[in-house]
Amino acid sequence: MNDTQSSHGGGCLCGAVRYQVRGPLRGVVNCHCEMCRRLHGSFGAYTKAQDSELKITEERGLAWYESSEKARRGFCRDCGANLFWQPSGMQTTSIAAGTLDQPSGLATIGHIFTAEKGDFYDIADDLKQFPGSAGGEMDTAGA
Ligand SMILES: [Zn+2]
Repeated sequence: MNDTQSSHGGGCLCGAVRYQVRGPLRGVVNCHCEMCRRLHGSFGAYTKAQDSELKITEERGLAWYESSEKARRGFCRDCGANLFWQPSGMQTTSIAAGTLDQPSGLATIGHIFTAEKGDFYDIADDLKQFPGSAGGEMDTAGA
């Protein structure tokens, strides 16, 4: 599902983190990995942007947690909202889709790390599923 809007705003629950994306956003991928489950309380629903097109316009509350050697997660230290997933060595940031101002114009395009998903829900749609990483396949699918 390609995104047609060229500009998106978003932010945390309390407003101490705000951002603006200029340029296309990928369709939303639901990540069912254990880290997302523990962080979000369930799966993480993420869109993605090029770093060059993501501008943090309010960073008063922004803090980073290094969730692994491969990535760090951006959250608001005031309200606890989780906003960003940033892999090291890449010029992209995954953005928690629920933090986008509505309407986002996005649609969900698939599921990753389904092998680690919580046992308290079922995936009830017909979208693509990957037991682990999609290996970049979702990126081409979602722009
Ligand atoms: Zn906040």
